[in-house]
Amino acid sequence: IEAQLRQAQKLDAVGQLAGGVAHDFNNLLTVIDGYAALLIARADEASARDLTMIREAATRAATLTRQLLAFSRTQTAEERVVDVVGLVTGLEGMLHRLIREDIEMVVTAATAPLHVRIDPGQLEQVLVNLVVNARDAMPEGGTLIIGTDRVEVDGEAAAQLGAQPGENVRITVSDAGCGMSAEVAARIFEPFFTTKEQGKGTGLGMSTVYGIVTQAGGCIQVNSRPGQGTAVEVYLPMAAAAELPVGPVPDPVPQRLV
Ligand code: ADP
Repeated sequence: IEAQLRQAQKLDAVGQLAGGVAHDFNNLLTVIDGYAALLIARADEASARDLTMIREAATRAATLTRQLLAFSRTQTAEERVVDVVGLVTGLEGMLHRLIREDIEMVVTAATAPLHVRIDPGQLEQVLVNLVVNARDAMPEGGTLIIGTDRVEVDGEAAAQLGAQPGENVRITVSDAGCGMSAEVAARIFEPFFTTKEQGKGTGLGMSTVYGIVTQAGGCIQVNSRPGQGTAVEVYLPMAAAAELPVGPVPDPVPQRLV
């Protein structure tokens, strides 16, 4: 519990810092990139190469700040009742574009809708982060499986997992990739912890996932074996029947005000 509290405080601090700085920082990066681009136009070949390095660094920094912004936004969620099965199915095309051709993505979604209370944009972020990690764990290709199902978690198992007792929706993203050592597994939720080479990872993916899932009252279970692969399970409390949408679903397109 104390470790979790420390983790939460750390996330909070990073989130506040990120929200305050990332936005202004991104504007400055645009200025740096813009002037570097202008200089390239009238530079000789050697200087142009150096300036290109500056632009590339600015782009990497912009990616990092964008992730920081996304991370800080986990603090202001717009929760509603979401069908996880529908959301995962709807995202399949987008997730496909994230992976490489040598990776086969299999979606084994439940047949009936499974409702949870969460910000749908944040749930999308969770899936994107988990799929990107699964992809990066399989540099030689392999199979990536995304599954959704419902599980009944009893009191004891719930306490062990940190899940809410009762019916949970489980989202599993598994890969047949490099897996993790126990030392790495113990640190994956730490902000800025990464084993990826410079410029490839920010170390914010799993801490973002952690922030979103715990905020929605859920928990994460990571099963990993070095050299064999990893399965990340996200448990989210099933929305109560009373919360489910009934009757005609409101038009998602806002009415135009005259
Ligand atoms: P990043 O992806 O930017 O490194 P994350 O917070 O998403 O940041 O992940 C932190 C670290 O956790 C990764 O660098 C990697 O070592 C490890 N990791 C996460 N997911 C997996 C996975 N599916 N297989 C192997 N290692 C993983």
